[in-house]
Amino acid sequence: MPDRRNRARWSRASRISVRVSFMKYIDEFRDPAILAGLLREIASAADGRRIRLMEICGGHTHAIYRFGLHALLPPSIDLVHGPGCPVCVLPRGRIDGAVGLARRPGVTLATFGDMLRVPGSHGSLLDAQAAGADVRMVYSPLDALALARANPGRTVVFFAIGFETTAPGTALLLRQARAEGVKNLAVYCNHVLVIPALRALLAGGSELDGFIGPGHVSAILGGDAWAFLPREYGKAVAISGFEPLDLLQAVLLAVRQVVAGRPAVEVPYARAVRPEGNRKAQAAVSEVFETRPDFAWRGLGIIPASALRIREAFADWDAERRYGLADVVVPDPPVCRCGDVLRGRAKPWDCRAFGTACTPDAPLGACMVSSEGACAAVHQYGRLGRSAPDFQEAR
Ligand code: SF4
Repeated sequence: MPDRRNRARWSRASRISVRVSFMKYIDEFRDPAILAGLLREIASAADGRRIRLMEICGGHTHAIYRFGLHALLPPSIDLVHGPGCPVCVLPRGRIDGAVGLARRPGVTLATFGDMLRVPGSHGSLLDAQAAGADVRMVYSPLDALALARANPGRTVVFFAIGFETTAPGTALLLRQARAEGVKNLAVYCNHVLVIPALRALLAGGSELDGFIGPGHVSAILGGDAWAFLPREYGKAVAISGFEPLDLLQAVLLAVRQVVAGRPAVEVPYARAVRPEGNRKAQAAVSEVFETRPDFAWRGLGIIPASALRIREAFADWDAERRYGLADVVVPDPPVCRCGDVLRGRAKPWDCRAFGTACTPDAPLGACMVSSEGACAAVHQYGRLGRSAPDFQEAR
């Protein structure tokens, strides 16, 4: 539960969000006049002060570049990309593990579309598919269960990735598989936890002033989960949705906190995020998963207690146990600066392979593959520079 000071800030944030809470349609969250007003308020609040805010979530990075918001903000406000792209933070060794599973006779490997093109040290899952492996793209973990039911002669392995947002879906898959007694299904669990990653990033000090909190993860964990950032690290937090107005509102709140020297957790994305989060989803995750002692992240190294593994009660559906998979650390190509990008130490264009040796069609690193990767976002939308056309007129 938040302390009294945070509770007071929470209710103030809710009042600021009243106008937004009555909005219903996407167009309203993209209203140029309201956006222009917010931009003026941000400029006034920052008053030329240099402020560095990290958007933790890769979905936010894409929204920022897609709408050109980075270019509309005052130059003194720097938005830094964070480690919240689940495809990007998965180390190569884990991609290799999935490719190895896909190549096994009798195995059908099912995963989300983003994972298919991520290069491992022996090619991607798409390469394995081209060489004859049975690799399927699914939209939901339960699609893997349907595949298993429809193909009793094969073992379907679901390559599960993602943060706290997607772990509940995998938990429900495992619960359902156990309830139905479906034995030709296993899960290669690669769910990671964002809070230990942030603690690792902040260990030893950081120049960041605050964070734009991830909307989806916060819908599961709850806004209270971020109270450690102001309390222990003195960092501002504003949890945002994914529309332009959401993001600018979060930036405004975070900037005001920084300037006032009163870091807190504020939740302008109150239409999706409750202080306590989604208790049912949390319970499903606790029932099925436990925390690993440690996990190797791409770019962040080995972080204690930063990932989930399948509990003993669901061991029959654990691909790591069933196939005796070992965790192998495989370095990224030397030229790739994905690790620095994920830590906020470099922008995509600081990498000399960006847009030349590394493009979305021929990616060298995961940050160029994923729909949430910072390199992919800048490559796709980088043309929206300081003259982003949709909103410039209204300023
Ligand atoms: Fe890695 Fe490509 Fe991004 Fe460079 S541009 S950091 S090689 S993903």
